[in-house]
Amino acid sequence: MAATITYDAENRLTLSGITCDCGLTHHLPTQDIYVGQGLLARVPDYVQRRGLGMHCVLVADQNTYPLAGMAVEAALTEAGYHVILCVIRRDGVMDPDERACGEVLLSIQPETTFLVAVGSGSITDTVRVNAVRTGLPFVSVGTAPSMDGYTSVVAPLLLRGVKIHRAGVCPEIIVCDTDILRTAPLSMVCSGVGDVLGKYIAKADWMLGAIIAGETYCDVCGEIVTDAVEKLLQNIPEIRARTEKGIRILIEALLLAGVTIMIVGHTRAVASVEHNIAHYWEMMQLLHGKHPPAHGASVGVATLLCWPLFTRFAQEDLTALDLPAIRAGRMSRAQREAWMLQAFEPEAAASIMRDNPDDFLPWEEQERRIRTAQAHMADIRRVIGMLPPYEAILSAMQELGAPTTPAEMGVDEKLLNLSMRCAKDYRTRYTLFKLIDECGLQEAYMAAYPLL
Ligand SMILES: [Zn+2]
Ligand SMILES: [Zn+2]
Repeated sequence: MAATITYDAENRLTLSGITCDCGLTHHLPTQDIYVGQGLLARVPDYVQRRGLGMHCVLVADQNTYPLAGMAVEAALTEAGYHVILCVIRRDGVMDPDERACGEVLLSIQPETTFLVAVGSGSITDTVRVNAVRTGLPFVSVGTAPSMDGYTSVVAPLLLRGVKIHRAGVCPEIIVCDTDILRTAPLSMVCSGVGDVLGKYIAKADWMLGAIIAGETYCDVCGEIVTDAVEKLLQNIPEIRARTEKGIRILIEALLLAGVTIMIVGHTRAVASVEHNIAHYWEMMQLLHGKHPPAHGASVGVATLLCWPLFTRFAQEDLTALDLPAIRAGRMSRAQREAWMLQAFEPEAAASIMRDNPDDFLPWEEQERRIRTAQAHMADIRRVIGMLPPYEAILSAMQELGAPTTPAEMGVDEKLLNLSMRCAKDYRTRYTLFKLIDECGLQEAYMAAYPLL
């Protein structure tokens, strides 16, 4: 155990100490991840080291091109690379939609050997889906520490205004030049912090999944995430001031969260019910023609909403549960389907139910889970007890000037209340929200969130 992060002379991140007996198969990341100052000029060396060829399409938008794209283009051209530029220009925010993806696709030539994404979430995802479709490797040059998706293998995209997720690939090379990241607006920094703070909930839910649902919890991944968030929480003033140190801590936390995905091959350590809530807001806002707020900012606010449910559950006396009453109050399969249609609207509801076929529990399984929770309440309390105090999270966000309320996210009471009630239904992944429902406590915990 004790995963350690070091950098070699080239600023390449090296992870060691990934030995763990959790039983899962662990993979060391094969990507080259560079974090440091003045790295843009070194991109040609990094590309050469991986042997990605000499012909690339460099993708940026009108903001990231002057910020970093131009310097990367100049360095590559100087080193003899042939660069085709694809600068995506929009009036307002650039979306990773069919038009953006098409611009990249049509810029790719038969001789192209790799792609370069200069940007944060939207640019990276637009390039990611093109990389997987064309089989070309890609290089990600990050421009903002705003989300943990640099190392992701899934691309959230927009198709005809609807959010979709497509399988993508991880960049072969990730370059995070802290000189560039430091220039990101504070709102993007806040978004990155929000995405990282959500990991507390994700980790707690994963541990609950191990206690109640027999999931395998990986100590090394849990430890990597915990170290990263704790370091972040201890350095909020540095992050707020966007010092080199502060920005490095933030981008490391975001990258390391992604690294756990590579290690165990799933996103358990980085996303749980707080992400379900954030995704739900985004999905519904898009459905109603609104432009949703930044992902990480929503995750941060959702994290604050989830927190009190955890601390309250730690006080619960599960021996007092009335099992026959819980059984009598269960939803039938038809009632649950009707609820899903109401909460998610037909198209999304159908796909969620299709993707999570085991989410309607037979009573025998529900009873088994309740009894397991009763028998392991001390373990559950221990997991919840590992969370820092709610006030520490809130004051960190306040100190940064990050949004802390759903209203700041453009989420009204109706959407908020629905999102809290259906967060447990978004996917099979085990969460405290599921446990609350299984213990027949849903109405007690959701009293503050009536259906409007
Ligand atoms: Zn996230
Ligand atoms: Zn492990």
